[in-house]
Amino acid sequence: MGFAQYKGQFYIGLFWFDAFLLTFILSRQYAYQLRDKQQAQKHALEHAKVSEQAQQELLQLQQDNQNKLENRVQERTLELNIALQELEEVNQELERKNIIDEMTGLFNRRHYDQKILAEYRRSKRNLTPLSLVIIDIDHFKKVNDTYGHLAGDQCLIWLSVHIKQCLKRSTDMAFRYGGEEFCLILPDTENHGAFSLAESLRENIARHPFHYQESEIPITISCGVCTYQQQNDVEPEQIFSGADNALYKAKNSGRNQTQTYQFTEAD
Ligand code: GH3
Ligand code: MG
Ligand code: MG
Repeated sequence: MGFAQYKGQFYIGLFWFDAFLLTFILSRQYAYQLRDKQQAQKHALEHAKVSEQAQQELLQLQQDNQNKLENRVQERTLELNIALQELEEVNQELERKNIIDEMTGLFNRRHYDQKILAEYRRSKRNLTPLSLVIIDIDHFKKVNDTYGHLAGDQCLIWLSVHIKQCLKRSTDMAFRYGGEEFCLILPDTENHGAFSLAESLRENIARHPFHYQESEIPITISCGVCTYQQQNDVEPEQIFSGADNALYKAKNSGRNQTQTYQFTEAD
């Protein structure tokens, strides 16, 4: 008897022990696996967080760079616009200098040559009269000889102010043609209109002496007028030589006066 008597119970006990052991081992394994899985998930989550943070930093960096780039582009564009504006101003100043007589501020001879041609063509096209007045200071050499060249320069500037003031219309133009010679282009102006404008300037100059330092210097001018009214075969140069002829006549007739030139069939 002995063991045989308890053999059945022993095996049953052994079975339960095995079953318990197996369950224990399996549950331990499952617990380990679960723990590993959780740890792996935790690591993955941390990695994901780190990578998300890195992505955000990268994005921020890209944004910062883009902002910096945009700012630099804006700065450069602004600088470029300023440079362009300065260039434009320099160009305008150059163009202005190209047509202005520096001493008197009147238009210069170069501009006269362009303008007389343009106004002559306009006069022909519109069938309007075009008058030209040449002004020359009488005995100007004496001013230079008596009071000096600087006084002469100031006298030219003073006369230019009067010339500018005598112009009536915005289309009238005054030029310093040469040393002490000036001329006026008066578009759409009849001969008598040009004559009376020249006369009122002449009278004004004769009435008001030029002041230089302590001296009062009487100044007179002579003027020659010529008007183009679609006379046949008359070119701009002939309008000028007509006015110059009239000026010559004014000088020869005693100065301080205005003379006019009429085109004849011979012209
Ligand atoms: P007229 O009545 O016949 O015109 O006599 P004028 O003395 O005015 O004429 P002339 O042609 O003999 O002399 C012109 C003078 O103008 C000579 C020249 O030295 C002077 N002149 C020309 N340009 C200038 C200038 O820019 N400044 C000064 N101060 N004098 C000038
Ligand atoms: Mg003169
Ligand atoms: Mg002269």
